[in-house]
Amino acid sequence: MLPPIDFEIVEPVFADYLLANAPVEKLATGFRWTEGPVWFADAGALLFSDLPNDTVWRWVEDGGVSKFRQPSGFANGHTRDLQGRLITCSHLRRAVIRTELDGSETVLAERYQGRRLNSPNDVVVKSDGSIWFTDPHFGIMLDYEGLRAEQELPCHVYRLDPTDGVLDLVADTFEGPNGICFSPDERVLYVAETGRVADRETDRHIRAFDVIDGRRLASGRILHKVTVGMADGFRCDEDGNIWTSAGDGVHCISAQGQLLGKVKVPEVVANLTFGGRARSRLFICGSTSLYAVYLNRRGVQVP
Ligand code: MG
Repeated sequence: MLPPIDFEIVEPVFADYLLANAPVEKLATGFRWTEGPVWFADAGALLFSDLPNDTVWRWVEDGGVSKFRQPSGFANGHTRDLQGRLITCSHLRRAVIRTELDGSETVLAERYQGRRLNSPNDVVVKSDGSIWFTDPHFGIMLDYEGLRAEQELPCHVYRLDPTDGVLDLVADTFEGPNGICFSPDERVLYVAETGRVADRETDRHIRAFDVIDGRRLASGRILHKVTVGMADGFRCDEDGNIWTSAGDGVHCISAQGQLLGKVKVPEVVANLTFGGRARSRLFICGSTSLYAVYLNRRGVQVP
């Protein structure tokens, strides 16, 4: 087996997740700050945000990158719902927005108890169709990734039922909730705590919560403290490992919170998602560039 130059194996099991002849590839560059990747298997395409450039880009294997949406409302995190529709977190519009199949947009959530959301950051759809998202203040504290504005709500995590539009608060113990994903069996929800703006003293970690009755959270606990930089966005593979962004690339964390290994990327990573024909290609948003690597693991099936 060739030495895996783009990887760091911390626990032996991590070697099984890698392909020795599959290096980290740089697919495109020239962006400011890439974020919010979402895979469209039906189009063989990846959409991703360039947050400060107020743009969503579209990457395809044989066509490179083209502009998908500009302005984007300072789009950050994306996912798809059970019908395949694009769900977007918009910093500027301070809302979670659905793009309908005819291209029109529907605002799904913009207020909680009459007060405006801060700046929805990242989003995931559960198998029952409910939409779970984080609402930190990052997009309204700075003009760089949105527009500075008065904060009307604490930084919460919410569950939205798109059938009746009811928005429920599910976690109120964060200073800056960020990335969000479910375990493969959806019994656990993982949420990143990235703290307050420019507060480097904030404890940064990934928390785990038990999901009760598919709609509430309980038993919140710190699962893992990322050793370099912070966890922003992450996804699970089919075995339940968490692949998270970090300051030196992508870290693979077991469901028990143990660092198994790293995918080394020469830029700070903000987010990632699985894609490709078998969901075994990890697309990595690394600051100014989009990277990808084929793995010997598949990502959890997401809508
Ligand atoms: Mg984020």
